[in-house]
Amino acid sequence: MHLQDTWEEVDPDELSYEELLALSEVVGTESKGLSADSVASLPSVTYKAENSHTGSSDLCVVCLVEYEEGDSLTALSCKHSYHPECINNWLKINKVCPVCSAEVSI
Ligand SMILES: [Zn+2]
Ligand SMILES: [Zn+2]
Repeated sequence: MHLQDTWEEVDPDELSYEELLALSEVVGTESKGLSADSVASLPSVTYKAENSHTGSSDLCVVCLVEYEEGDSLTALSCKHSYHPECINNWLKINKVCPVCSAEVSI
Protein backbone atom coordinates (compact mmCIF):
# COMPACT_ATOMS: atom_id res chain seq x y z
CA MET A 1 0.00 0.00 0.00
CA HIS A 2 1.80 3.15 -1.22
CA LEU A 3 -1.07 5.57 -1.04
CA GLN A 4 0.51 7.51 1.81
CA ASP A 5 3.83 7.90 -0.01
CA THR A 6 2.12 9.30 -3.07
CA TRP A 7 0.16 11.77 -0.99
CA GLU A 8 3.29 13.08 0.69
CA GLU A 9 5.14 13.53 -2.57
CA VAL A 10 2.42 15.55 -4.18
CA ASP A 11 1.83 18.59 -2.08
CA PRO A 12 1.09 21.36 -4.56
CA ASP A 13 0.16 23.97 -1.98
CA GLU A 14 3.47 23.87 -0.17
CA LEU A 15 5.46 23.62 -3.38
CA SER A 16 3.87 26.57 -5.08
CA TYR A 17 4.15 28.67 -1.94
CA GLU A 18 7.89 28.08 -1.68
CA GLU A 19 8.32 28.67 -5.37
CA LEU A 20 6.44 31.92 -5.07
CA LEU A 21 8.69 33.00 -2.25
CA ALA A 22 11.80 32.14 -4.22
CA LEU A 23 10.40 33.93 -7.22
CA SER A 24 9.62 37.12 -5.34
CA GLU A 25 13.15 37.15 -3.97
CA VAL A 26 14.57 36.89 -7.47
CA VAL A 27 12.29 39.64 -8.71
CA GLY A 28 13.30 41.81 -5.79
CA THR A 29 17.02 41.59 -6.49
CA GLU A 30 17.15 41.19 -10.25
CA SER A 31 14.33 43.34 -11.50
CA LYS A 32 14.85 46.23 -13.90
CA GLY A 33 13.36 48.56 -11.36
CA LEU A 34 14.76 51.12 -9.00
CA SER A 35 15.93 50.33 -5.50
CA ALA A 36 13.76 51.40 -2.61
CA ASP A 37 16.34 54.04 -1.73
CA SER A 38 16.20 55.56 -5.21
CA VAL A 39 12.44 55.58 -5.21
CA ALA A 40 12.42 57.27 -1.81
CA SER A 41 14.65 60.07 -3.11
CA LEU A 42 12.21 61.14 -5.81
CA PRO A 43 10.77 64.62 -5.19
CA SER A 44 7.24 64.91 -3.92
CA VAL A 45 4.81 67.59 -5.02
CA THR A 46 1.45 68.74 -3.81
CA TYR A 47 -1.25 68.39 -6.41
CA LYS A 48 -3.09 71.54 -7.36
CA ALA A 49 -5.72 71.28 -10.05
CA GLU A 50 -5.05 74.72 -11.53
CA ASN A 51 -1.31 74.11 -11.63
CA SER A 52 -1.51 70.98 -13.73
CA HIS A 53 1.23 70.88 -16.35
CA THR A 54 0.68 67.37 -17.66
CA GLY A 55 -1.83 68.54 -20.27
CA SER A 56 -3.74 65.30 -19.94
CA SER A 57 -6.36 64.29 -17.45
CA ASP A 58 -5.04 64.23 -13.94
CA LEU A 59 -5.48 60.58 -13.29
CA CYS A 60 -3.10 58.16 -11.66
CA VAL A 61 -2.71 55.57 -14.39
CA VAL A 62 -1.56 52.98 -11.88
CA CYS A 63 -4.73 52.89 -9.77
CA LEU A 64 -6.98 54.90 -12.14
CA VAL A 65 -8.05 57.29 -9.41
CA GLU A 66 -8.16 61.05 -10.02
CA TYR A 67 -5.96 63.22 -7.87
CA GLU A 68 -7.56 65.47 -5.34
CA GLU A 69 -6.57 68.98 -4.43
CA GLY A 70 -3.74 68.83 -1.91
CA ASP A 71 -2.75 65.23 -2.63
CA SER A 72 0.92 64.53 -2.02
CA LEU A 73 2.33 62.99 -5.20
CA THR A 74 5.70 61.71 -6.33
CA ALA A 75 7.09 63.56 -9.37
CA LEU A 76 9.26 61.83 -11.96
CA SER A 77 11.99 63.45 -14.03
CA CYS A 78 9.57 63.69 -16.99
CA LYS A 79 7.24 65.87 -14.86
CA HIS A 80 4.53 63.27 -14.59
CA SER A 81 3.41 62.62 -11.04
CA TYR A 82 1.66 59.76 -9.29
CA HIS A 83 0.48 58.58 -5.93
CA PRO A 84 3.65 57.69 -4.00
CA GLU A 85 2.48 54.19 -3.09
CA CYS A 86 1.42 53.50 -6.70
CA ILE A 87 4.57 54.70 -8.42
CA ASN A 88 6.80 53.13 -5.77
CA ASN A 89 5.46 49.69 -6.54
CA TRP A 90 5.64 50.38 -10.27
CA LEU A 91 9.23 51.65 -10.24
CA LYS A 92 10.46 48.70 -8.24
CA ILE A 93 9.47 46.56 -11.22
CA ASN A 94 10.14 48.90 -14.12
CA LYS A 95 11.97 52.23 -13.96
CA VAL A 96 10.08 54.00 -16.70
CA CYS A 97 7.19 56.44 -16.54
CA PRO A 98 3.95 54.49 -17.06
CA VAL A 99 2.55 57.33 -19.20
CA CYS A 100 5.39 58.46 -21.49
CA SER A 101 7.89 55.59 -21.04
CA ALA A 102 10.72 57.98 -20.23
CA GLU A 103 13.38 56.31 -18.15
CA VAL A 104 13.29 57.66 -14.61
CA SER A 105 16.52 59.32 -13.58
CA ILE A 106 17.24 60.31 -10.02
ZN1 LIG B 1 -2.55 55.85 -7.77
ZN1 LIG C 1 6.24 60.68 -17.98
